[in-house]
Order: sequence, then structure tokens, then C-alpha cells
Amino acid sequence: MGSKKFETEAIRSQIERSQFLEHSSPLYLTSSFIFEDAEDMRASFADEKDRNIYSRFSNPNTSEFVDKICKMEGAESGYAFATGMSAVFSTFAALLNSGDHIVSSRSVFGSTHSLFTKFLPKWNITTSYFKIDEVDKIESLVTPNTKILYTESPTNPAVDILDLELLGKIAKKHNLIFVVDNCFASPYLQNPIKFGADLVIHSATKLIDGQGRVLGGVTVGKADLIQEIYLFSRNTGPALSPFNAWVLSKSLETLSVRVDKHCENALKVSKFLENHNKISMVKYPFLTSHPQHLIAKKQMKQGGNIVAFKIKGGIEAGRKFLNKIELCSLSANLGDSRTIVTHPASTTHSKLSEQERLEVGISDGLVRVSVGLENVEDIINDLNQALSKYQ
Ligand SMILES: *Cc1c(COP(=O)(O)O)cnc(C)c1O
Repeated sequence: MGSKKFETEAIRSQIERSQFLEHSSPLYLTSSFIFEDAEDMRASFADEKDRNIYSRFSNPNTSEFVDKICKMEGAESGYAFATGMSAVFSTFAALLNSGDHIVSSRSVFGSTHSLFTKFLPKWNITTSYFKIDEVDKIESLVTPNTKILYTESPTNPAVDILDLELLGKIAKKHNLIFVVDNCFASPYLQNPIKFGADLVIHSATKLIDGQGRVLGGVTVGKADLIQEIYLFSRNTGPALSPFNAWVLSKSLETLSVRVDKHCENALKVSKFLENHNKISMVKYPFLTSHPQHLIAKKQMKQGGNIVAFKIKGGIEAGRKFLNKIELCSLSANLGDSRTIVTHPASTTHSKLSEQERLEVGISDGLVRVSVGLENVEDIINDLNQALSKYQ
């Protein structure tokens, strides 16, 4: 964090005002910037000046957004991307060479899993996985070619919690770059750099936008690593658009109040589900029944907005339950002001075998709720009526 408190930086860190003395940050919807003369142009391209040249490299709106995320995460530097996945991919592509190896937690976002299994192997980059109960095996997976230790926490969609401090120590001991996808926590609830992360990734599409409008991503962390990521990205073109950066920077102004309310609602929803007789398991980091509850308490301010639960009756029950939902949305997004209910086994993870699904922590009856900002009684009433009708 900078010199001021989180909420203040989120609101008050802004690019310089123009001659119009606008109060809110203006939108610089421009693809390029002009030079005073040939000498100015030469010096700009020779990196002798820290200034905007072309919006694939940088833009005042993306810089404002990145600067805020850096302050919130306690990071030295960062780069903003068009999507969370371009942040994940560009981070790997910039830092890894053919023959390099990644050690990752088993439960990761579906597209990240596809990167590890289908695409990175095209460049001879391989990945070994540890399950949530195999943290003690991480060191045995490290080889001389291992370069990155990767995790999410909480994980998508199983809502497992990994001990970031422990992983940070392992990464340090083996000289690995420790990369954390911090999307489910948001920069407000958890700052992995404090626990030893070298790089932190966010899909800004989720809680950071928080209103289901734009896609975006960001990687922040150690300046030397970010410089490599910046040079790769400046030349390959996954940059965030100035418009989306402007939306996202404005969203950060309300991040703390939104996430506080998301967490308050999610805790109430999880307590309601815990007492329901058609539900066999509820997973929410700030329920004392969560298997890694104490770790969650150590590294997170609150439990986040994602609740996972297991409905009795397996895959059919999950599908029927979704069909009875009335208020909440059936949608692929999460971290939205609108509550979203998904059934990973029949949708996002339907291409995996049942065995593969179980390995990433998805049983057939698993339902994931991204608890929104509607009145929590209405959210609970909707889940309750769907639970009473589904069979
Ligand atoms: C959504 C998500 C991503 C990908 O972000 P996009 O903006 O959709 O590309 C990456 N990691 C996690 C944990 C996510 O939930």
C-alpha cells in the first residue's frame, strides 16, 4: 500500500488533471501520442523518457489502473491485459523457455488448466500438480527445470485454500518464481506478496469490475519480472483497452464497500446452506467447518463471495436444482453484483471425466454460488425454494 489507506488510494490515486481540471479521471481514448519533434521521438523510443507512445505499450488510463492495483497489492510494478487469461498466458510466455517446468495446485481455473495440459506442452513446457491434501509433496515435484510455483487461493471452483506463506517459503528455498492468481480474493481481501509471492495475477473481469460489464486482467509484482512481461506484451499485443481501464479504475473506488457486502452476504448464505437437509457439504473459507479455515483466517481479511456446496443426488440433482432457480442468474461469470449459480460438472467441467473432475475437487453434485449484492434474504429465499422443488 502507498502512504494512504487502501480505500483512500483506491479513490485518490489518479493521473494528473488536464487543463480542464476535471474531477473524475478523463478517458484517453487514443491509440497513439504525439511527439514535440524528431529528438523527442528518438528519446522516447530509446526509453530515455517515461512517457506514453502507443496504447499497446501504455496509456494514461491503463497506467492509472495498474498504479492502483500495485498500491493495493504492495507491488513494485505491473502491466494490464485485455482479459485475465491473457495475463496468465503472457506471464508464462514471457518468463518460460522451452524445457521449463511448472509446479501447480491441481484445482485451477478451467482455462488455466487447459493452458497447462493442451497449449504450453506445444512449446515443451510441462506442469506437475499437487492436490490440496498433497502440500507436503510439493518439494518432491520440483526438478532442475522447475521455474514457476503456481497457485490460486481460494481456488476455482473448489474454494480450497492454499497456505501462501508455506508455498512462498518453498518457492524461495528452490529459487522458483511464485505466482498467485488472486482473483477470488481481490486485492482487498488478500495480498499474496506479503506471503512471498513474486507475481500476483487478477482477472479484473470478476470482483474488480464487479458489475459484469468489461473484461480485463493484470499482473503485478517484482519490477524485473514485470519488465520481461511488459516487453513480451508490448510486442505481442494483449493490452487492456483504455476504455476498459477507465471502467476498472472507477470500479476500484468502490471495491472495498462492495467486497465487504459480498462477504457479509456470502457468509449468511453459507450458514443457511450448512443447515439445509438436502445439502451434504458446504465450503466457504470463513465457516469453521472449512478444512483450511485457519489458513484462510491467517491470510484473508474475510471469506470472499464464492460458496461451494454439494447437493444430494449427484449430477441430475444439480441440473434439476439449477432449473428451479428463479432470481439468481445461470451465467458463466462470477464476482458480479448479481448472484450467479453454476453447476461445474454439467457445464464448465463437463469435458473432464468423473475421475478428472474429482481430482480437481468437483463432485457431480457440486454447485458454485457467486453471492451478489441483492438483499441477502431474497438470495436465500431463491436458493431455498429451488432446494424444496428440485426433486
Ligand atoms: C475468470 C478467471 C480467470 C480468467 O479471467 P478472464 O478475465 O475471464 O480471462 C482466471 N483465473 C480465475 C481464478 C478466474 O476466476
